[in-house]
Amino acid sequence: MITAAVLKAVDDDLVVHHDIEIAAPGPGEAKVKIVASGVCHSDMSVQNGTMPLPTPIVLGHEGAGIIEEVGEGVTTLKPGDHVVLSFIPSCGACYCCERGQSYLCEKSAMIAAGGMLDGTTRLSLAGEPLRQMTMCGTFGNYAIVPEISLVKIDDDIDLRLAALIGCGVLTGVGAALNTASIRPGDSVAVVGCGGVGLNVIQGAKIAGATRIIAIDMFESKLKMAEQFGATDLIQAGEGDPVGAVMALTEGRGADVSFEVIGLGPTIEQAINMTRTGGEAILVGVPRMDVMLNLNAAFTFLYLSKTVKGCWYGSSNVREDVPKLIGLYREGKLMLEELISKEIGVDGVNQAFLDMQGGEVARSLITHTH
Ligand SMILES: [Zn+2]
Ligand SMILES: [Zn+2]
Repeated sequence: MITAAVLKAVDDDLVVHHDIEIAAPGPGEAKVKIVASGVCHSDMSVQNGTMPLPTPIVLGHEGAGIIEEVGEGVTTLKPGDHVVLSFIPSCGACYCCERGQSYLCEKSAMIAAGGMLDGTTRLSLAGEPLRQMTMCGTFGNYAIVPEISLVKIDDDIDLRLAALIGCGVLTGVGAALNTASIRPGDSVAVVGCGGVGLNVIQGAKIAGATRIIAIDMFESKLKMAEQFGATDLIQAGEGDPVGAVMALTEGRGADVSFEVIGLGPTIEQAINMTRTGGEAILVGVPRMDVMLNLNAAFTFLYLSKTVKGCWYGSSNVREDVPKLIGLYREGKLMLEELISKEIGVDGVNQAFLDMQGGEVARSLITHTH
């Protein structure tokens, strides 16, 4: 029996169950003792229906843990290994993986189904199948995870910090280092300074941006943005953020802008605050029905702006997870500072409220076993 926070239906609070059955890992799968899990905005997006996933489901996709048991045919992992969970599997052999785009691995087609790679589930509650978000389900103290969704890490890295790498750090820092092409001395604007936005900011700093303009509604988040490397702070809601960015960049606009919220109006703002010939990177996850209203001739042709989507920080997890751990060891990447609150799994509903109130970068769940 395992313990996990379960979403029964969209808009419900999560409920912690202690009597969840877990099957043995199937071929190509491993049983992972989940040590820690971040509470990410995308977990809340499943809860409120922005990201439609089937229920009942164990949420959580940003985690790290220790391999407890491996299924048949697993060759790259053994019991005792420390791992970061990747919410996109990385098979290494499909069309996209072979082209260095493992964040688009063709095996990820199954992540929205809530089961394993073959569509079946390994968890059950009161005899009913229980799904796992993106083949992870890190709001449980154990999970069955495909081998291709696990990245082995060194044993000496604190698993609480490693957990955060799994989504927010890979996505945010990856947006700045992989998706965007920031040049030393560039000006960067970041719209939305939650957990991922803060990582975009520290990524932009690592990439050598000298002016980093943070934009958010909440003063509390702008304070955190400053700690992570923002040089200029704009409180949205007080006037026009596009005009404010123009004023800070000699009327030109930012070399690179990032949208890390996922709302139509803020995506348009991010594109409009990008300079002629600059890049706008879309990181935030919009609802399925969001459409954009942009001037096609000016945005893309006369002003030659590049608009790029950023999925999972354009990361190749097998290279990028060790790279990020290296940056942390060199003191260039802040991880501990991302943790605003440490909670048990029963605190997850409060963590959603704290996130909506702009009070936390990350709430971190540590599991008991
Ligand atoms: Zn692949
Ligand atoms: Zn996430």
